[in-house]
Amino acid sequence: MARVYNFSAGPAVLPEPVLEQAASEMLDWHGTGMSVMEMSHRGKSFVSIAEQAEAALRELLAVPDNYKVLFLQGGATAQFAAVPLNLLGDASSVDYLNSGSWSKKAIAEAKNYTSVNVVAEGGNTDPMTIPPQAEWALDPNAAYLHYCANETITGVELHEPPQVGDVPLVSDMSSTFLSRPIDVSRYGVIYAGAQKNFGPAGLTVVIVRDDLLDRASHQTPSVWHNQRQAEADSMLNTPATYSWYIAGLVFQWLQAEGGLSAMGERNQRKAARLYAAIDASDFYRNPVAPEVRSLMNVPFVLADDQLDGQFLDEAAKAGLHTLKGHRSVGGMRASIYNAMPEAGVDALIDFMADFERRHG
Ligand code: PMP
Repeated sequence: MARVYNFSAGPAVLPEPVLEQAASEMLDWHGTGMSVMEMSHRGKSFVSIAEQAEAALRELLAVPDNYKVLFLQGGATAQFAAVPLNLLGDASSVDYLNSGSWSKKAIAEAKNYTSVNVVAEGGNTDPMTIPPQAEWALDPNAAYLHYCANETITGVELHEPPQVGDVPLVSDMSSTFLSRPIDVSRYGVIYAGAQKNFGPAGLTVVIVRDDLLDRASHQTPSVWHNQRQAEADSMLNTPATYSWYIAGLVFQWLQAEGGLSAMGERNQRKAARLYAAIDASDFYRNPVAPEVRSLMNVPFVLADDQLDGQFLDEAAKAGLHTLKGHRSVGGMRASIYNAMPEAGVDALIDFMADFERRHG
């Protein structure tokens, strides 16, 4: 078996012990004589899998009791619509920070339902920045403020949640969820697609404060209606059972690795080493201001983009895969989620230095 270092932005690398456990349980989960994929979601076995996954996630993030944790479908893209549908209530507008392409998609979707006040624009300068909060045009009457905690394509991350007073804070954490501890009590709603940092595609975790469950529009589809899904334990429809099970194994793996503090330290080390290598060279460049650099997605360009194809070919031969940047920005991108070992980042740094020596 030859596993590679997979730097994909998502679907992305999963922890090997999780894949091994899933493989060993594939044909017969815990003596049931069937795989998790073949079980009724309402049976005792799957209900225990679902409950354990939720308990582990609550423990990892120290989710307060007044929050519901939902396991839904439709990805973060469905939440782009579900957020305004669930949260607008009697308000007549919503606040959004625009820090890049995923923010823009969320804004475009919200505009289908209400008027959107863009509080500030970031990610459009060189180097890329996010304007300081003092410059944001926040509306105290907004139904909520939405921001994308980590722009996966450009690698722009807001490391601290904005201060919004009583306005509920909503965050798309798709590509940073579980990368380090966060204070859930600062948020009204947190959502994240699983396929980057905690599981296979098909599952979206939504963490929502209880007092925000009562304001959904009657047009909200039931499957994305937070209150109805909370009342149904996220089983108003058949959930993404296998993705939920794998996510539960990833949560257990995170606990065994020392939880989110240990994970955060490891992620800091990985990102610091990679950015330092990029900054020390004139051959590579990261276009993001240091204070908003992502810990999870590290884009970089080569001084001579004629070498891009060769870089990718040689990297793949060295066992370093899926380093091509998003088609909208070009260049390279190394996604270094929790399951990317430190040795993978070191192998990438060594390869980059070697490639520079030969072509610089
Ligand atoms: N938000 C962010 C920050 C993302 O990275 C992505 C996926 N790349 C999405 C939203 C969209 O997620 P999905 O494809 O699961 O709907």
